[in-house]
Amino acid sequence: MDKSLFPTCATCPFKRNDRLCVKAGGKHPPNCPTAMQQKLGEEALACYQDEQVLRMARESAIVEYNCYTTLPDGTRIPCHPRILEIMEYAKAMGYKRLGLLFCIGLREDAKTVAEIFAAHGFEVVSVICKVGNVSKAALGLEAEHLHNPAKPETMCNPVLQAKLMNDAEVDLNVLLGLCVAHDTLVMRYLDAPTTVLAVKDRMLGNNPLAALHSSYSNYLKKPV
Ligand code: SF4
Repeated sequence: MDKSLFPTCATCPFKRNDRLCVKAGGKHPPNCPTAMQQKLGEEALACYQDEQVLRMARESAIVEYNCYTTLPDGTRIPCHPRILEIMEYAKAMGYKRLGLLFCIGLREDAKTVAEIFAAHGFEVVSVICKVGNVSKAALGLEAEHLHNPAKPETMCNPVLQAKLMNDAEVDLNVLLGLCVAHDTLVMRYLDAPTTVLAVKDRMLGNNPLAALHSSYSNYLKKPV
């Protein structure tokens, strides 16, 4: 693709409801993918002809719709937390066996999530990040990158997490608190569809967007 056409939707200057992607004949910048990438748009639309892809897309749209309720004054407000959405989606898709891939730091949350999934009738397979108990030495890490070089340190093993889920033939994988790039690796190796319940943010209580919603974001915008 011509670099001048690389999409920059994140910095689109137009108001939400004026944009071409939500309004026919709407406004758009010169590199708008809705306006300029119609061939790719048609190719993408053709993918929804696949029965499974269509079903996933339809059910996720229905789950999203059901996430709102209407108050007596007509106001629409969200009424479902993400964990409920995941279960509603799984039920709509006919998924029976859920794979829960979690970080050891969120082991208490993982236990609660597994109990909730089970209470809703799902079979739960869960695998912790440290599974396999492989030393970080296997990654060629030097002492300077170990938290306590005097002690053996177990590496996170997203590839084994994924392989165990594939072996268990889970219907849907749910990621809980995996680190940056451990999630990338796990998704690279997982066979079944995958969604995320929560991501890891050690500093911000696993709420990475908190960094944007405070004056800390000004610091982040300064080049290091
Ligand atoms: S109008 Fe075009 S450029 Fe703007 S957000 Fe929508 S798709 Fe992206």
